[in-house]
Amino acid sequence: MKPVLNYINGAFHPALSGQTLETVNPATGEVITTVARSNADDVAAATAAANEAATSWGATTMEERIAWLERIADALEAEAETIAQLESLDTGKPIALARKVDAARSVANFRFFATYAKEQPEVTFADHGAVNHVHRSPVGVVGLITPWNLPLYLLSWKVAPALLMGNTIVAKPSELTPLTADFLAKSLDRLDFPPGVFNLVHGYGPEVGQAIVEHPIIRAISFTGGTATGKIVAATAAPMFKKLSLELGGKNATVILDDAPLDDIMDGLVRASFTNSGQVCLCGSRVLVDSKIHDVFITKFVNAVEALQVGDPSLEATQMGTVISKDHQAKVESYIRLGLEEGGTLLTGGTSETAPVTGVSQEGAFLRPTVIGGLDAACQTATEEIFGPVVTVHAFSSEDEAVTMANATEYGLAGSVWTADVERGHAFAKRMETGIVWVNTWLNREKGGRGR
Ligand code: NAD
Repeated sequence: MKPVLNYINGAFHPALSGQTLETVNPATGEVITTVARSNADDVAAATAAANEAATSWGATTMEERIAWLERIADALEAEAETIAQLESLDTGKPIALARKVDAARSVANFRFFATYAKEQPEVTFADHGAVNHVHRSPVGVVGLITPWNLPLYLLSWKVAPALLMGNTIVAKPSELTPLTADFLAKSLDRLDFPPGVFNLVHGYGPEVGQAIVEHPIIRAISFTGGTATGKIVAATAAPMFKKLSLELGGKNATVILDDAPLDDIMDGLVRASFTNSGQVCLCGSRVLVDSKIHDVFITKFVNAVEALQVGDPSLEATQMGTVISKDHQAKVESYIRLGLEEGGTLLTGGTSETAPVTGVSQEGAFLRPTVIGGLDAACQTATEEIFGPVVTVHAFSSEDEAVTMANATEYGLAGSVWTADVERGHAFAKRMETGIVWVNTWLNREKGGRGR
């Protein structure tokens, strides 16, 4: 594959320093290609281009920008299979998942915001004899920084609304997964998208991301990534009074009440736990189950988890591929060992040494889906984000106790409640101190999506 270059002012360039880094296939350990290893000088060039383009792009009409979003969506949709293949190669996620989630959602993000804009009424309201008009104006140059778990899905989720509102962009994808951001840049280039409106700078977080956050011309930052990095981003951007959006980590609870129809919901519970090898910020990594059904739940859950097809991400039947890298595998394994040191019992799975995935490259970052029981809900394994295919299971003896356990975390991203009684589920959900709670479903955001 050709080297991945920066896209600045409508042209592809190597890093000004000439430096590169490598992107690796996590299923084989093989280098896919080299990537521009940029620094603050490249960010400065991209920002200058974005600033130059800001006036003309900001002056386009909403209708023109909607038309661009639709054109981009059409172009990506025509290449959906390529997007899925690139994403699977770069992340180690199963090709079927990359098609269904990453490629489909990246297209849908552009369509969603185009439709959203068409549906926005003009807002005016009278107040004390005067008429107030709400105008939506571009912020100017915005910095978009994204992680590796859902590369184009999360980047397009930021790019589409930023463009729609007339902003120009300096974007940085994760250094671990640059391929589909590069594909987006190439797609825009083929469409003769106006130069300078979308700029892409590749490289490491402290060298490129930090330079984006620090750049005085960049007025808003939209960041998705780990909580520790979010803290650095916030500490840099806040004193500069930048607009800031942070989407950070999670340690989400999956709560199973005593009336839950286990056979019916098992598929959803496994999905909530192990989609993308547990590397979705919304995955439920703490399963809280009523003690009355705990033992029967464990038997059914372990059976369902062991039935997951773990293996080569390029195979159609694979349901779970790798984690993102060997380094991340080592981090996840350290939590599995910690869970056992903290008194947990391994119910299935384990480290690559104790529970190897067979028939795959030994250089691949493969792990079996792992379930640990018997841990105190307040222990380190049960409260820190692992971001891998590891869930801990905890029994509760009352709904009040379940609420306390669900809320005993520094995170507050998402959660789910499973019960035969939807009203009861809603009542429980209201007591969870978390941003999103699904009842009897998980990651159900699309019209006509899964769930009940
Ligand atoms: P990360 O924080 O290590 O990196 C995210 C991005 O920030 C990368 O592009 C990285 O290069 C960049 N970065 C690193 N240091 C930086 C700095 N000093 N300044 C600016 N940018 C910097 O996260 P990751 O490991 O790539 O992703 C996994 C994390 O992302 C998990 O914690 C997960 O929960 C979180 N996540 C959250 C959401 C959400 O919507 N809340 C979605 C997906 C992932």
